[in-house]
Amino acid sequence: MYVCLWQMERFPSGQRGQTVNLLVTPSKVRILLSPNGGLLLSRKASFPSYYCFQEVSMSCFYENGLQFECTGCNYCCGCEPGFVFLSQTDLTRLSAHLHITEEACIETYCRYVPMGSFKMISLTEKKNYDCIFLTEKGCSVYEGRPEQCRTYPFWSSIVEDKAAWEAEMASCPGMGKGRLYTKEEIEKLLQARIGNDPIMKF
Ligand code: SF4
Ligand code: SF4
Repeated sequence: MYVCLWQMERFPSGQRGQTVNLLVTPSKVRILLSPNGGLLLSRKASFPSYYCFQEVSMSCFYENGLQFECTGCNYCCGCEPGFVFLSQTDLTRLSAHLHITEEACIETYCRYVPMGSFKMISLTEKKNYDCIFLTEKGCSVYEGRPEQCRTYPFWSSIVEDKAAWEAEMASCPGMGKGRLYTKEEIEKLLQARIGNDPIMKF
């Protein structure tokens, strides 16, 4: 039996924007061939080897690309409570950029966010909810910033459909203007976060 999996791991709201880790991009669907014919709906990221996946391309609302050009308003870096979660790649890059150890980076600039049975590492905030690295001149660690920042607003949750994209426009004045990102470029940005999961501590 064939089961379409549109798998998502949706984190609690209140992040900088909203993060959804989609295992496939909105233009692809995973078809699962189950050996026992049972209906399989799972939130797991991996399955036993006897399950066989096929990816099927679909049309999506950004077939003709999407426009985006950052105005530098910094709204996505602060103003309200949020999280910037770090993957191991993010932590390594940020620590190297700051010329400190990963342990020192966590201790000085990060916090653990409880997520039920586990915790995730996020950058800390200032009292006014601005990211710890936000300055009057913008991001002070721009070259070492996490993937979550690098790929905004091309997150799975935001390009999931037209309504989600248009809803996010209320928070980002750069969306819908300026440079046209092709579908291929958008997919590349989406892929950059897939398999680059935030660090989890149990
Ligand atoms: S909210 Fe949009 S325009 Fe403003 S800094 Fe962030 S990405 Fe740029
Ligand atoms: S790391 Fe830089 S780009 Fe990311 S939220 Fe903080 S200030 Fe903004």
